[in-house]
Amino acid sequence: MISGRKKGQGTDRDSMQDRCVLCGKFTGIKKNVPIKERKYYVETAGQLCEECYIAVYGQTHNDNILDM
Ligand SMILES: [Zn+2]
Repeated sequence: MISGRKKGQGTDRDSMQDRCVLCGKFTGIKKNVPIKERKYYVETAGQLCEECYIAVYGQTHNDNILDM
């Protein structure tokens, strides 16, 4: 079996990243990073990228600011 595409050195690293569950883009977060240490991870949904997370939740974890 031939894996046709070789794009420099990026592919190995990319294959270790989790994709955004909404847009499918690589998040830059490696699959072996514990969920608690991840940014933009939503338990009910999965891993989001920064763009989708902000689109859905507005901002990163700043709940207190919204309450003011
Ligand atoms: Zn996304």
